[in-house]
Amino acid sequence: MSNVKEDIEYLIKLVNKDLLIKEKRDILHRNPVKIMEIDEKILILEDELNEKKELLKKMEKEERYLDSVIKSENDKIQTKKIEENSIKTNAAYRAWEHEMQYLAAKIETHEERMLGVLEMIDKENLELSRFSDEVKVKKDKLMFQKMELEKNIEKSQASLDIIEDEKLRILPHLSKKVRVEYQRILVAKHDTAIANLLNDVCQGCFSRVPPQKAHEVRKNNKIITCEFCGRILVYYQENKKAESYE
Ligand SMILES: [Zn+2]
Repeated sequence: MSNVKEDIEYLIKLVNKDLLIKEKRDILHRNPVKIMEIDEKILILEDELNEKKELLKKMEKEERYLDSVIKSENDKIQTKKIEENSIKTNAAYRAWEHEMQYLAAKIETHEERMLGVLEMIDKENLELSRFSDEVKVKKDKLMFQKMELEKNIEKSQASLDIIEDEKLRILPHLSKKVRVEYQRILVAKHDTAIANLLNDVCQGCFSRVPPQKAHEVRKNNKIITCEFCGRILVYYQENKKAESYE
């Protein structure tokens, strides 16, 4: 086997490692962002729930206030009633009557308000229990998603360590010239320095490679780079799924 053919064989092994490394790094980059978005959604749900609880508390506070006001007004009426027997003049009686009517009207107003508040409390209690259930379902779902993302981060990190180690074991098999070239392109491209040729299309930049050049690439016996992205072009079957690092 010529040196170049051997190099290309290792380059094909390398590109698969590089693609897996990219995939795992993407997950490690993306998932923490998704987790932050989930945390944000959970906070919003909790805020909404707390707002509803606060509203209910305010209504209950008004209920207690009205209750004490009505009680004290009733006490006043009771005290007034006792005064009735000691009224001496008609004028005093009329004044007493006015005062009684005034107190009764005040109680009536407060009782009406009380009814309204009690109705709102009932409504709000129902709404709160419905919303609490809804929040619980949504939160459970979000927490589950978060857990899956976290698990995926752990798995990807573990896979990444293995793949990077495997890659390190492949690199020394390349001839020095090709290895230096590979590393130079990798630094420039960040993801991979090698690209498969699929249906005459470079899988690194998805540019169409001229037929004559594509024909040469498929022979896998010469180092040929993509004229558009500069990656080393190799040819291999992609359908045999590489080792699974799930
Ligand atoms: Zn390309």
